[in-house]
Amino acid sequence: MKVLIVFAHPERHSLNGALLDAAIAELQAQGHEVKVSDLYAMHWKAAVDRSDFPDLPSGERLKVGSASSREFAANGLTDDVKAEQEKLRWADTVILQFPLWWFAMPAILKGWIDRVYACGFAYGVGEHSDSRWGDRYGEGVMAGKRAMLIVTAGGWPEHYSERGINGQIDDLLFPINHGILFYPGFTVLPPFVAYRVDRLDEARFEIVSGQLRERMRTLATTAPIPYRKQNDGDYQIPIMELKTGLETPGAVRFALHVAEPKSS
Ligand code: FAD
Repeated sequence: MKVLIVFAHPERHSLNGALLDAAIAELQAQGHEVKVSDLYAMHWKAAVDRSDFPDLPSGERLKVGSASSREFAANGLTDDVKAEQEKLRWADTVILQFPLWWFAMPAILKGWIDRVYACGFAYGVGEHSDSRWGDRYGEGVMAGKRAMLIVTAGGWPEHYSERGINGQIDDLLFPINHGILFYPGFTVLPPFVAYRVDRLDEARFEIVSGQLRERMRTLATTAPIPYRKQNDGDYQIPIMELKTGLETPGAVRFALHVAEPKSS
């Protein structure tokens, strides 16, 4: 397999850095090729602005979607963005790794998505008509590729349980798993989440890194989250609501978009 890890932590000598090393070592031991985009080391520019669209005439109002579409089609995006898009084309598996900061990904990683996911590349693809809303949610440029998250969190597992005060982890990660990964077509694997990590001792590090190595060994065989595909007939066009009667018993809100209950 060809694995791209997009790594978002400002300190390479961190827990996240050590887990990255464990993941790379295990993947290479399995014979996989690995590329890493270490965003802080690359001084990745996080904010989208005019400089992302060098051919935009100076007097023209910036509309990010249309500028992105035009420059992507004309191969006119900046070199840093084009290099990341090339890595995404190369990879058959993509991993986003980050510490949970304010219940979300660090801004630098969100900025990688905002800039690399150009219009025509990650969105705005496929037929848009009265009967079809493009290729997205299970279809698109990333179709056939796997993706997963590696996340570390200071909070306890209970804090992220169904009744936990932080909200359930599947809900917090839904906008990333469903909105950022499934939308452009990735097959999304369950995330690897390490909880209660801020005072991790050596013994617990061995357990956590062992669990991560196991996930790296089973990347090709792990069952994905069974999100419903947009164009498989489950949604009413054009309002894109789940058709009545298809919901898994008891499922509401985000869980409606998962086709069957998880086994665990
Ligand atoms: P580090 O600080 O590098 O290390 C954590 C522990 O692991 C330390 O005890 C360290 O000694 C140990 N360790 C590191 N490397 C090794 C190694 N090689 N071997 C053995 N032990 C090692 N948490 C939440 O749950 N929800 C939030 O919304 C949230 N928001 C945050 C917002 C901010 C701005 C910040 C700074 C933190 C937030 N946190 C939150 C906590 C955050 O998720 C954790 O601090 C982070 O996940 C820890 O990962 P790290 O790589 O930075 O760990």
